[in-house]
Amino acid sequence: MTEEREREILLEVKDLEVTYGSGRKAYRAVNCANFNIYKGETFGLVGESGSGKTTIGRAIMRILPTSGGEILYKGQKINGKISHTLDQQVIKEIQMIFQDPQSSLNERAKVSYIVGEGLMNVRPDLTAAQREEKVRQALLDVGLLPEFASRFPHEFSGGQRQRIGIARALIVEPEFIIADEPISALDMSIRAQVLNLLRHLQKERGITYLFIAHDLSVMRYISDRIAVIHKGDIVELADAEELVTHAIHPYTRSLLSAIPMPNPRLERKKKLLVYDPAMHDYSKEAPQWRQLRPNHFVLCSAAEAEQWSKEV
Ligand code: ADP
Ligand code: MG
Repeated sequence: MTEEREREILLEVKDLEVTYGSGRKAYRAVNCANFNIYKGETFGLVGESGSGKTTIGRAIMRILPTSGGEILYKGQKINGKISHTLDQQVIKEIQMIFQDPQSSLNERAKVSYIVGEGLMNVRPDLTAAQREEKVRQALLDVGLLPEFASRFPHEFSGGQRQRIGIARALIVEPEFIIADEPISALDMSIRAQVLNLLRHLQKERGITYLFIAHDLSVMRYISDRIAVIHKGDIVELADAEELVTHAIHPYTRSLLSAIPMPNPRLERKKKLLVYDPAMHDYSKEAPQWRQLRPNHFVLCSAAEAEQWSKEV
């Protein structure tokens, strides 16, 4: 097994647990999430709807309180109570892009306000004119016309609205962006454009992404590494290519089998794998996070580790 690569870690998530509600109504949406995100990479988080992806994103953003574990940004704990200085730093450096551009923009505000709002907090030193100039530039950066600043969100298409959302995140010059299913709600024809934009911005500015999606089809092309989450548990983590070619956990394999094949003849013959959590026998032994191949981790029991290693 190889050593953890010598790369700068930007974000560490350790034994993260997030619970909605309390008492008898408590619902643990994230059980025990563990992963590191390296500076400059695109880290993919994939899992079906309701598995806890957005919850993890919102916990990192400090929108949601955590009920266990730690989130470290640049080595500093950012969950729970933190200093005002650190809070200001996190607000500036970590931004989020939301899934649904139809509902994530304030309909009553002009684009100039939506895009420039974050600056009021992060750059109180700027004059209104300087802020306006930054909004112009941010709109240009995402491929929109600066004149759009004086319009309202309803005047734009889904793709344009998502670009406005990206401009809003970009304007404070973040180091880390959580992109929560940024293309899921968009028409097929404009998905590639938005993906290319995100990629271009990463290349130009060295931004690190946590990229969230519910299927693996796009994920494999844009992510450096991928973590697979199932009902609040991260079940597998590896380099994107490794994960796709040597998937170990049965849940990951079922996600892979769901990706449509370009060849219709093969697609018709394809066997869909169905994942049934009842296949695991964890009554005697709780599953553990184990490295079964180089930099390739799986949540499993010792017996499963032995059997699955043979199968891959
Ligand atoms: P994903 O983003 O993977 O689709 P979410 O993180 O949104 O999943 O949700 C994970 C689980 O937490 C789901 O079962 C969902 O119903 C539940 N959940 C999400 N938000 C809330 C909330 N505000 N209150 C209670 N439960 C919630
Ligand atoms: Mg979600």
